[in-house]
Amino acid sequence: MDRKENVIFGVNGPVVTVRDSKTFFMQEMVLVGRERLVGEVIRVTAQETLIQVYEETTGVRPGDPVIATGEPLSVTLGPGLVGDILDGIERPLRAIAAKDGVFIGRGTPVGMLDTEKRWPTHLTVSVGEELTGGSVFAEVRETESFLHRSMIPPSLSGMVVWAAPDGEYTIEEPVLRLRDADGAEHAVMLAQKWPIRQPRPFRERLPFTTPLITGQRVIDSVFPIAKGGTAAIPGGFGTGKTMTQHQLAKWCDADLIVYVGCGERGNEMTQVLDEFGELIDPRTGKKLTERTILIANTSNMPVAAREASIYTGITLAEYFRDMGYDVAMMADSTSRWAEALREISGRLEEMPAEEGFPAYLPSRLSAFYERAGSVNALSGHRGSVTVVGAVSPQGNDFSEPVTQNTKRFTRVFWALDKSLAYARHYPSINWMDSYSEYGPELAPYFNARVNPNFTECRRRIVSLLLEESSLMEIVKLVGADVLPDDQRLIIDIARVIRVGFLQQNAYHPDDTYVPLEKQFLMMQTILYLYDAAKALVETGKPAARITETGLYEKLIRMKFDIPNSDLSGFDTVKAEIDATMARLFEPPKEPLSAR
Ligand code: ADP
Ligand code: MG
Repeated sequence: MDRKENVIFGVNGPVVTVRDSKTFFMQEMVLVGRERLVGEVIRVTAQETLIQVYEETTGVRPGDPVIATGEPLSVTLGPGLVGDILDGIERPLRAIAAKDGVFIGRGTPVGMLDTEKRWPTHLTVSVGEELTGGSVFAEVRETESFLHRSMIPPSLSGMVVWAAPDGEYTIEEPVLRLRDADGAEHAVMLAQKWPIRQPRPFRERLPFTTPLITGQRVIDSVFPIAKGGTAAIPGGFGTGKTMTQHQLAKWCDADLIVYVGCGERGNEMTQVLDEFGELIDPRTGKKLTERTILIANTSNMPVAAREASIYTGITLAEYFRDMGYDVAMMADSTSRWAEALREISGRLEEMPAEEGFPAYLPSRLSAFYERAGSVNALSGHRGSVTVVGAVSPQGNDFSEPVTQNTKRFTRVFWALDKSLAYARHYPSINWMDSYSEYGPELAPYFNARVNPNFTECRRRIVSLLLEESSLMEIVKLVGADVLPDDQRLIIDIARVIRVGFLQQNAYHPDDTYVPLEKQFLMMQTILYLYDAAKALVETGKPAARITETGLYEKLIRMKFDIPNSDLSGFDTVKAEIDATMARLFEPPKEPLSAR
């Protein structure tokens, strides 16, 4: 028997030392101790091998065995992932919970998809066909709404010498045989393995052309994210990071969501499970859980697996991208992931850099966000992985290393603001500190698909907010009364934009998701009122006259008063603006009593 094995020399929290450098290789998955806990080789020196263990090491002792698996830490990719909840190293929590109670039994093998379930499979290739790595060979109905496309492993290619008839197969049964160029035959199954730290290959990167539509106004209309793009959501405790990510996971128009709960509270993950189990995906009419994969490494679970969960998540996302799907991955929170890095680094006695984080924090963050993108996959399909990472800076201090480095590698920055959250202005995305670099790339989409004036409206809305912000400096010093009427108008209309447009109530049935058409009409109507009011003020009428009409309040309520299903209400509002303005433009009638 050639299975390599050695014994533990020392244990330091999740880090285990072996006094030998020949048995194991870097990033190899190993089984540690008598309970065969899952671990990964993270350092090999001339004298010793260091292993990071993904489970509690309580009870593990020097002298206990460490067994090599000969493979890098990998996940199993195949049908059975969608709709499931997994831990950071892809162990199905639901299945494990059913067997072992609420906690995962230690030593449960990784990458365990259900090997008994039979999947309805349709082979799409026939004998004699030449297939290359990544090409689709079968379609599997994974859930009612989700079609799984099984692909040849990227490293394999050859001619089909046998294809199974359509039928029901487990992930371990051969369904295809390929003969490669050397004449060797390979059995292909519905599942394959992939090392989590290695990006999956694709043909080419594609430019960003399509927004990920989220139904959140401040995002879609003001700071949009492209499909295949990257975004950071930094914010202190309670500012709405989790809520924003839940909203995106619920409403965004991705085909599949990979939601990684990393070091945060467990009840938030249960909430996702419960809520998504009841919510209906507006596009497929099916439950939202049918397009969601949850990866949970909550605060009460081992710290090292938290480090792995991000990679597990992005590997799953890439796998579905390769099938030709638009995948959105949410990571809540990457700060907890960075803290796991820091803890392990500390145990290894590495030289700390800023705030104790290892010097390789920036390169790790960069390598993670690099894996997002819109691609032409090996399968010939177009697919994308959009990554949205929450960052939780200590004490709301955005100058700390995780926020700063994340900012370097992401192109959208949705800065959550504590004072907005206190004022219950949700989503608390600060319009002065946030940005999206996808604006120019996405402008053609919005102008062609929604309205030719979309980006012009967006530009004017943003510029009014900027003007308001500089006027507020003056107002703070000397009060609003000193402002000339055209500037008071800006203050008034900017309030309508903030309260009526940017604020969005996640709990209101019509406001929780707003289609792009309505987002546009809201912007357009607000600007319509502004232009009319400006013309009026230019004739010398006081700005206060417009305030008295109640039109501002009317526009602030448009989001609730005009239902998503019938946008004709905007015409009514415009007609009302016209009528009111016509009345205000008229010279005041002489009161009867004066005759
Ligand atoms: P964080 O993850 O940043 O600590 P949460 O996402 O848990 O913060 O948000 C805290 C609270 O703020 C939520 O429980 C909710 O009451 C409120 N909140 C956040 N975003 C919204 C929103 N879009 N609409 C309504 N309430 C919100
Ligand atoms: Mg949170």
